[in-house]
Amino acid sequence: MSASISTAGTGKRVAVYPGSFDPVTCGHLDIIRRAAKQFDHLIVAVLNNTSKKPLFSVDERKQLLAEVTQDLPNVSIDSFRDLLVNFIRAKEAHVIVRGIRSVTDFEYELQMASTNHQLDEDIETIFMMTNPKYSYLSSSIVKEIAMFHGNVQDLVPPEVQQALIAKYKPE
Ligand code: ADP
Repeated sequence: MSASISTAGTGKRVAVYPGSFDPVTCGHLDIIRRAAKQFDHLIVAVLNNTSKKPLFSVDERKQLLAEVTQDLPNVSIDSFRDLLVNFIRAKEAHVIVRGIRSVTDFEYELQMASTNHQLDEDIETIFMMTNPKYSYLSSSIVKEIAMFHGNVQDLVPPEVQQALIAKYKPE
């Protein structure tokens, strides 16, 4: 990896994988595992977006992410509500990791990457292609299935499946 995306101070290659993770799916986890192999430290950062109404609170999403990544020593979990580039600078990271599932993802991601590059040209966005197994998978689809008590066993880690069952337990 080029020295230009190393962290200036420590020389460590730090990347941030930002997202809503409401909740984390097998598709996200696949990206996390693959990205963790490419960097010294990967920070998975939950976006605390006040304009969206999430199913899981930021703390719940962080907790689930922490549980499903506990075997990955160079992965840590954080959250942010500021501009992403400000968060990246504060963490002394230089790389944003995003996943791409489709052409639709690509168009949105290209816009985001260009905007972030405009805001800070030292920050590079790196895209990882989805594992084809998970190309259709999104947090929204998982929530829709779980809401109607469908089986999400192959779509999310077991901890997340339990959390979804608890959320949608009939009163
Ligand atoms: P956001 O609201 O920022 O898109 P998401 O939690 O939906 O947050 O997604 C975070 C990132 O993970 C995005 O880059 C998205 O494209 C990627 N992603 C989501 N689901 C998958 C999947 N099944 N395979 C690969 N990447 C995915």
